[in-house]
Amino acid sequence: MRQLTFIKPGAFEWQDVPAPKLKADTDAIVRPIAVARCDLDLYIAAGVVPYPGPFAFGHEAVAEVVDAGAQAGVVKGERVVVPFQLSCGRCDPCRRSFTNTCQAYPARAAYGLKPTSGTEFGGALSDLMYVPFADHMLVRLPKGLDPIAVASAADNVPDGWRAVAAHLKARPGATVLVIGGLAQSVGLYAAGAAASLGASRVLYLDDDAVRRDTAKRFGIDVEPLNLAERAEKTKSDPGGSPLALRGGPEQFDITVDACGNPDALNFLISSTAPNGVCTSVAIYFTPTTPVPLLKMYGKGITFITGRVHARADLPAVLDRCVGGHFHPEHVTSRVVPFSDAADAMTDSGPKLVFTNDLKT
Ligand SMILES: [Zn+2]
Ligand SMILES: [Zn+2]
Repeated sequence: MRQLTFIKPGAFEWQDVPAPKLKADTDAIVRPIAVARCDLDLYIAAGVVPYPGPFAFGHEAVAEVVDAGAQAGVVKGERVVVPFQLSCGRCDPCRRSFTNTCQAYPARAAYGLKPTSGTEFGGALSDLMYVPFADHMLVRLPKGLDPIAVASAADNVPDGWRAVAAHLKARPGATVLVIGGLAQSVGLYAAGAAASLGASRVLYLDDDAVRRDTAKRFGIDVEPLNLAERAEKTKSDPGGSPLALRGGPEQFDITVDACGNPDALNFLISSTAPNGVCTSVAIYFTPTTPVPLLKMYGKGITFITGRVHARADLPAVLDRCVGGHFHPEHVTSRVVPFSDAADAMTDSGPKLVFTNDLKT
């Protein structure tokens, strides 16, 4: 079968590799039909995140079951979402919905990301994928959902979703601020999910004009970030002092850092209301990152970071897409066939989707 293999920054090869086969009753073999480019994929492909090749590429897939064991819970022909993280559904962390830390696999086990775990599990930009514990892993694509629209549901969509969904449930009608940037589609999905889940105001800040135009499709408030200007404005404000409960920039109950810039993160924390919750979905590739702990202490801010538990959040994400309540497809910037994936991988735009012989 064909497998898109990352060799080194800017260099991919379609390689012929042996097709996977069932090994256990709970295994499935699936054929990816719509595969999205994860935000991280762009940086690997461009050499910004220095992952050593070669390894099978792509990890956000909607697929069709082509073979399944008797206990796999799916049958040939069904369409499914394949969570990017491998998990068993049986161990203690899995049973507690912490599918990112499944004990059956090496830490950070994922498709298409061999360097994160040291183990090759195959990639989504392949003719076939091998799925162990398919009875737990695979989530059926609800009827009526377009595989292209939800191609990123394996990773980036739930990553944005988890930054707002539970907090909006606990605080119905809360206000939400998202600063976009590095995790470019994840921030947009967070903003779109917040609007879909009844936030009373969603403000999306980003210096990138394309992502701002994308965010507007969710019917939310969108402004340039202009960080220097905003920081200057609040400098002389007494609300800027670490222990102040009031004053300073506009306050939001729920805030999301998809920017990956420590100065923007500081501004975001200053914009988080007393008792608010701030989630960073960006990855800081530095041993430490400055955060204003005194201000967070004074306002009682909860700070969350870490990888998404994609499998655990997937069903709720797909449920919200059914009936058009949430439109992740607003973020899709370009749809291209598998055959052009290697050339298109470093395209600008927040979300590429690659299709493989897809008949909708
Ligand atoms: Zn990813
Ligand atoms: Zn597990």
